Amino acid sequence: MKSYDRLFIGGEWIAPSSSNVFEVHSPTTGELVGQCPEAMEADIDRAVAAARDAVDNGPWPRMSPSERGAVLARAAELVGERMQEMAELITNEMGSPVSWGLLAQVMAPNMILGYYAGLGSTFAFDEVKDGLLGPVLVTKEPVGVVAAITPWNVPFFLAAAKLAPALLSGSSVVFKPAPETPLDANVFAEILAEAGVPKGVLSVVPAGREVGEYLVNHKDVNKVSFTGSTVAGKKIGAACGANLKRVSLELGGKSAAVLLGDVNLDEALPLMMPNAIMNNGEACISLTRILAPRDRYTEVTDALVEAVRALKVGDPLDPATEVGPLVAERQRDRVEGYIRIGQDEGAKVAIGGGRPAGIDTGWFVEPTVFIDVDNSMRIAQEEIFGPVLSVIPYDSDEDAVRIANDSDYGLCGAVYSADNDRGLAVARGVRTGTYMVNSAIPIDFSSPFGGYKDSGVGREFGTDGLELFLEKKTINLPAGYTPSV
Ligand code: NAD
Repeated sequence: MKSYDRLFIGGEWIAPSSSNVFEVHSPTTGELVGQCPEAMEADIDRAVAAARDAVDNGPWPRMSPSERGAVLARAAELVGERMQEMAELITNEMGSPVSWGLLAQVMAPNMILGYYAGLGSTFAFDEVKDGLLGPVLVTKEPVGVVAAITPWNVPFFLAAAKLAPALLSGSSVVFKPAPETPLDANVFAEILAEAGVPKGVLSVVPAGREVGEYLVNHKDVNKVSFTGSTVAGKKIGAACGANLKRVSLELGGKSAAVLLGDVNLDEALPLMMPNAIMNNGEACISLTRILAPRDRYTEVTDALVEAVRALKVGDPLDPATEVGPLVAERQRDRVEGYIRIGQDEGAKVAIGGGRPAGIDTGWFVEPTVFIDVDNSMRIAQEEIFGPVLSVIPYDSDEDAVRIANDSDYGLCGAVYSADNDRGLAVARGVRTGTYMVNSAIPIDFSSPFGGYKDSGVGREFGTDGLELFLEKKTINLPAGYTPSV
C-alpha cells in the first residue's frame, strides 16, 4: 500500500487544501493499493505561483544547461535503482503486464532522462551566426511555466517525455497526472527532488478534468504540454489558442500495419504482434488495423488467430503474463461495447470476444481478432483502447496506403515485406508521424514523435521535444563583436 497525505507543491510536501482523496484500486484484484490527496484549484494556484517565482527569480533557469543535465542524469540513476518497485507500482495502478512494464514503463523513462541529460552538454542553446545584415546571436530560453498533463496508460513514460525536456530547458513544471495513476507521479517527484531539482520548480497535482481545465486556463501558465484523448486535446488546443498559450498535443491513434503481398509471416508477426496488442491494447500507437492482401487473407487471419491464442492472459504481476486487465470497469464496458458494435456491423469474431475463462476478478477482456472488417466500420475508425484487432483486406500496395490513410488519425503505422524498398515506399505514402519498416521499434527517443491529423500537434522526443519548451530570441550584435557562448 502506497499512501500519501500531502501534495508535492513547489518542491515541498505540504498539506492539501481539501480532504478529498484519490483511492487507487488494483485493476486485477480490486484491492486498495494506494491513495493520495486530490489537488483542487487552491493547490493549483499555489503550484503555479511557486513555478512562476522559480522562473522569474530562482536559480534553475539561470544555471547552465549542463548543470541542469547533471540533475537529470542523477534522476536517471535513481530511477535505475527503483526499476522493479516502479514497474510493480504502475502495474498495481493500471494493470500493465510487469515484464512489458519494466521495459516500457520504467526503463524507457530512465533512457529518456539519460538522453535529455546528455543534450544538456551537446544542444546549441546559443548560436552566433552571420546574419544577412550583421552578426546575430540566436538564444533559446525557457518557455516559462509549463502545465504538463498526462493520461494513465503509460504514466511514468509520458511524464518523463514532458518533464525531462521541460526541466532541461530551465522551465518550471506543474504536472497533473491522471486520477488513476497519481502514485508513480509522486514517486517521480521524490526522485527529482532527491536528484537536486530546486524548490519551486516542480509541483505534482493529481486532479481530475475540471481542475485540469483550471490549470490550462491559468493566466500564469505559459505552455501546455498535453497527452490524452483527441476530444480533450481539441478543447485544450482551443483554450490555449484563445490566450495564445504555447501548446503541444499528443492524442489518439488508429494505426494500420500493412502486411505486403510478399511478406514472410513467420518473420513479420513476431515484429508486429508486440505493437498490435501492447499494454493490454491501451496504447495510442497500437497497430489495431491489420491490412492483409486479399489473396492471402485466410492465411494471414489464421496466423493472427494462432498468435493471439498463444498470448498468456492473467495476473499482470506474473512475469510470464502478456495481457493483463484493463484499467477500470468503465474501460472494460467501453471495449465490450465496441465488440458488440463490430458484430452488429457485420464483422466476425475469429478469436476472443468475451472474458477469459477461469479468471474471477479484474477488468479482463479476451484478446480479440475481428475478420471481414471494412475500413468504414466504427471498429476500424474509432479508438477502442483495448486488445481488439481488425483485419482488413486490400488489393494492391496503393490500395493498402489508401486504406491506411482513410482515418482521422495519423500517429503510427508499420509495413512488413520481403523487400525493404517496397516497404519504405508504403511508409512514405502513409500520413502518420512515426512508422516502422520491418521493425518492432515504434519510438526512438532521439527522434521526433507525434501525430498528423487528429493525432496531435507538435513533436516530442529528440531535440524537437526540447524545443517545445524553448522560446527563440534573436539578438542583433554590432559588427565585429563575437560574444563567448
Ligand atoms: P483523457 O483525454 O480523458 O485524459 C488525459 C488527461 O487529461 C487526464 O489527466 C485527464 O484528467 C486530463 N484532462 C481531460 N480533459 C481535460 C481538460 N479539458 N483540461 C485539462 N485536462 C484534462 O484521456 P484518457 O482517456 O485518460 O487517455 C487515453 C487517451 O490518451 C487515448 O486517446 C490515447 O490514444 C491517448 N494517448 C496518446 C499518446 C500519444 O503520445 N499520442 C500517448 C498515450 C495516450
